[in-house]
Amino acid sequence: MAVQMNTDVAIIGGGPAGMATALACTVAGHRVKILERAGEARPAGNILNLWPPAIHALSSMGVDVTSLGAPCLTTFRNAKGKLRATVNLPQKIIDEYHGGFIGLLRPDLYRRMLKALPADAIELNSSVESTVDHGDHVEIKLQGGRSMRARVLIGADGIGSMVRSELWGSTPRRNHNLHIIGGFSFAEVPGLIPNECVISHNRYVQGTYSTILSNGRVGFQWWVLQAWTDEKPAPEDLRAHALSLADGFEGSLSALIKATADDAFQRWPIRDHIPIPHWSKGRITLAGDAAHATSPYAAYGAGMSICDGYFIAQRLHKVDLTDTEAVTRALKEYEALRVQHTTDQVQGAHFLGRLFHHVPFPFTLFRDAVLDYTPFLQQQAGDKNPAEIVEQLDVMGPGITQG
Ligand SMILES: Cc1cc2nc3c(=O)[nH]c(=O)nc-3n(C[C@H](O)[C@H](O)[C@H](O)COP(=O)(O)OP(=O)(O)OC[C@H]3O[C@@H](n4cnc5c(N)ncnc54)[C@H](O)[C@@H]3O)c2cc1C
Repeated sequence: MAVQMNTDVAIIGGGPAGMATALACTVAGHRVKILERAGEARPAGNILNLWPPAIHALSSMGVDVTSLGAPCLTTFRNAKGKLRATVNLPQKIIDEYHGGFIGLLRPDLYRRMLKALPADAIELNSSVESTVDHGDHVEIKLQGGRSMRARVLIGADGIGSMVRSELWGSTPRRNHNLHIIGGFSFAEVPGLIPNECVISHNRYVQGTYSTILSNGRVGFQWWVLQAWTDEKPAPEDLRAHALSLADGFEGSLSALIKATADDAFQRWPIRDHIPIPHWSKGRITLAGDAAHATSPYAAYGAGMSICDGYFIAQRLHKVDLTDTEAVTRALKEYEALRVQHTTDQVQGAHFLGRLFHHVPFPFTLFRDAVLDYTPFLQQQAGDKNPAEIVEQLDVMGPGITQG
């Protein structure tokens, strides 16, 4: 007797990777179900920037990206304001993808993605405990003794992914010994330039602000980032600590921090995973941070997660999900399209964290002279990295059903 499926594609995790996979697989013609352990699909943070591939992926999935964020011309500077690099995106890309690199608030993205999801696509308070690939389907065991069956399973369960451990064994988190404190404000702060993202570094600290757009309102998000070991307790007063780090930075960073409401401050220790060469096994694969957790230095973890969903659906489009060989091949193709690009981003972001925050004195003097007076940063962060990201648009093709 044929085994009854609860859905075609089951997705563990209702973050950007999970929602994107569900949206894209719906476009590809498959039934989807997201299993999310939390009581609501809610982001853990506020600040966010997105690159053009994520914007392309979102609009291909039916998400309204009109005025989702503020277009940002992005520059790297030293703390005195000296220009070190300009992030070069072709004007054609900026025009085509709603501003190119955009600044937004994470809850706005979640709202728009949730709105585009089919009714009943997400099951909240559903914590998955284990999965078994039975060859022709995957069994998903949930807390409370319930189980579900699906033809394909996507582990979009974040950096602590249970699915990743099941498939590939334990891969410890890589601690960057960095922390980031950030926030946002819609207050009028003199000196902040709209449609800019300014990433500045002094000898040990990154201090950044980026324009945001939220429900038609223009504001600014900011963050400060420094070396901070895991053993050290978090600073008690985030505002005071952020202000001490912003001290000496040219411009209005300190004023923006002062204008930030108490409940808009957040702090994260920075961690990732050393990239792994394979994600897919049989009818199961990984997406998002479960596959390639990355430091915010890339400003691309959510973007890559959204693109994962796009590529999974593109590969599964027109695939007969009862055909185990075809499903396995499609998931391997997805992995082949994604592993190198995401690995480069993860390692690049890890390198930048080390370069800016873990170089010992007096080598910092040499580093800063190189950054101030040679084209090194322009070549790496201004030209090469954005070009690699934009190249992804070609790999993506015009849409989910046209790959
Ligand atoms: C400070 C900071 C700034 C960042 N800035 C940017 C940026 O500017 N641009 C950018 O693109 N990215 C940025 N990122 C990265 C981005 O936030 C992540 O890459 C992204 O959220 C990953 O999405 P995800 O869906 O893979 O995982 P998550 O968002 O972690 O979602 C995983 C979901 O799975 C659920 N889950 C886990 N286990 C289970 C289970 N067993 N059963 C059911 N549900 C489960 C969790 O509850 C969670 O909802 C930043 C990250 C940080 C920390």
